[in-house]
This record gives sequence, C-alpha cells and structure tokens, in this order.
Amino acid sequence: MSDLSVVALIVAAGRGARMGAPTPKQFLDLGGRMVLSRAIAAFASHPLVDRLMVVIHGDDAGRLADALAQLPPEMAARVTSCTGGDSRQQSVHRGLEALAGTGVAGNALVLIHDAARPFVGESLITRAIAAGRAADGAIPVLPVVDTVAEVAADGALAGNPDRARLRTVQTPQVFRLDAIVTAHRAAAEAGRSDFTDDAGLIRWRGGKVATFAGCPEAFKLTTPEDVARADGLIGAARTDIRTATGYDVHAFGPGDHIMLGGVRIAHDRGGVGHSDADVLLHALTDALLGCIADGDIGVHFPPSDMRWKGAASRVFLAEAVRRVTALGGEIRHLDGSIVAEAPKVGPHREAIRATIADIAGIDIGRVGLKATTSEKLGFTGRREGIAALATATIALPKGRLP
Ligand code: MG
Repeated sequence: MSDLSVVALIVAAGRGARMGAPTPKQFLDLGGRMVLSRAIAAFASHPLVDRLMVVIHGDDAGRLADALAQLPPEMAARVTSCTGGDSRQQSVHRGLEALAGTGVAGNALVLIHDAARPFVGESLITRAIAAGRAADGAIPVLPVVDTVAEVAADGALAGNPDRARLRTVQTPQVFRLDAIVTAHRAAAEAGRSDFTDDAGLIRWRGGKVATFAGCPEAFKLTTPEDVARADGLIGAARTDIRTATGYDVHAFGPGDHIMLGGVRIAHDRGGVGHSDADVLLHALTDALLGCIADGDIGVHFPPSDMRWKGAASRVFLAEAVRRVTALGGEIRHLDGSIVAEAPKVGPHREAIRATIADIAGIDIGRVGLKATTSEKLGFTGRREGIAALATATIALPKGRLP
C-alpha cells in the first residue's frame, strides 16, 4: 500500500465551439444531471481519490455551483475550483499551480481529466492510479479498430499507417504533481503552447509515459452525435420511476352483486359505499395518486360531495390516470390483490384486467390481478366485507416532480 495522496484535476474551462450549442458541453444536461456533475461524481465517489480541483472559465462560476448542487453535499464539499486560461494547456497549468499552492504534496498523484468525458468509471480511475504509481506518467489508450488513412493536402490517399501500433488517447492521465507542474512551468517559459496533452509535456522533458487500458464508454463529448450517444447510454436513468401502493375495504350489505375492477359480479351480498364500492378501482386510484404524491381518493372525490353518490368508480381511476398523464407520466404497471372468501375472482380475472387496462390506456400485459382468502380470519374471513391492495408503477420524465 502506498500513502501517496491522489488528487483529481478536472478541466472544465472549454467553450465547446464544435458542439454548436450556447452552453459549453460540460454543463449540458444528460438525463437530469450535468456532464460535469457526472465527471465530478465519478472521482468524488472513488475511495482512493482524496480531493478534487475543477478548472473553470471565469464566466462559469454560477454553472459550477449548479453542477455541485446536483451532488450529495458531502461530495460537493470536497471540490475546490480555480479559473483556467485561454487554452487547455494553460488551464491545466493553472489548476496544477492551484494544487501546489494549497499544500498538496509534490509526490501526490494527479489525475488530469477532461470534464467532457462523463462516463469515466471506477475501474478506469483505479487502473489510472495503479499505472501512475509505477511510471513517470500514464495515459489510458484504446486500440484503433478502423483502418487508418493518411491523406495528402489534396485529399488523396497518401498511405496507411500500421494501426497495430496506433492507439487513441483518453483521460484521466496521471502524473506526480511535482513532475507535471515543473513541465508546465518549463513549457510556459519556453513559450511552448502546442502540446496536445499533458503526456506530451512529460515526454518533452525526457520522462517515460506508460499506457494502460482505456474504456470505450469514457468517450469525449465533442459533437451533437456524441451527446445523442450519451443520452442513449443513460436512457433508463433519464426516467423517474415511481411506485406506490393503495388499500381499500368495503363492507358487504344487502344486494345481489358487487363491482370489482369495473366488472359486475353476481353475489349474494352487495357492496356498501358512497360510490359503487369498487375496492379494486379505489385501491388502484390511490396507488396512482401515491406515485405522483397527489393526495388520495378522498381528497379528490370527497364522500361529502353528492356528485359521487353511486358513481361508477372508473371515473376515479380515470382521473388519477389523467393526473399522471398531465405530468408527462406513463403507467408502466398496475397490480391488484383481492382479499375475500367470496365471490370467486378467477372466472372474472380476464374481464377485470381488460377493464383496468382500458381505463388506464395500457396493454393488458401490464395489469396483474390476484385473489386470496384470509383463511376465514378477520372481517374478510367472516364474509363481512372485501379488501383490495394495489401497486402502481409509473415513469415520469426526470425533473417533472420535486
Ligand atoms: Mg373505497
């Protein structure tokens, strides 16, 4: 084990001209979280990373605050920031000077990372730290898959370099703080601003830079197509999945049928209630309202309101469906359990599922229905009433509800 400290230097000062968007790419939203927030979170959640420095453009202090606000406070508290320069090289140099000026040891490992690579994962960071401890510097690389062409100024094919010896380069690149800051100072003094990355500076100074396996998912967001690819990768994470339960009971009274799931079922008792006493639709209505934290059936349809006297309960479920839909929500699944000694639900199961699917506007394959007795125990066991439990699952667009 090494007791060297490990620092992440995240470069987020670029203006992203190639993206063609007014917002620099590191501040674009990806599934409800900024690109920069995702990059910070990757390092801030890594057990071996001690602290983080983010280099931003002078105009972006507010955007950085927004990015940090998307992180757990204990993560955000570990992040410090400084202002970058006109080029990536200058920005990295300023970040390194800021680290050196705030007491980070010279032998600390610095992971220099482009904020526009939001999918840097824990394993890539772990590989970077291991490689950095064993060399003057280390960079993640990927093999080149396509045939590579060299073209002349007129666009004609000039040759095919041997791709077996070629790699594409990613970040984080890792160096000892004293070595990389010294190299940057020397480059600044020499007026050299043409280094494409920090590894180039180390090699210029005679250091040896090792390579380690990169990660295809840690690609850099450069064009709108890259953002579309990133959106696709986190498609599932863009959705706010919510689940809630509902429960209802109605007593049996005089009558010759009950309503259950919108279906009339012959029975030697009737359901007692202000409306048609459909326990299943009432429980499902509450489950859906619970998903959007919008009160319960009694709030929207108070028993004191004579409009709902004897009402068909599909009206209640339809209103809950409407409320979910109004928020851009999509019902993913509805599930119910009936507790009663009688009547038997099995013969009506498919009709009930079809009715619920119809009210909710979903496929019948997304409606579950089970029934059980309570082994002659309790009010349901004594045939005094019927109970229903329901679970609803919905998908909301992220950010639609607090
Ligand atoms: Mg009820």
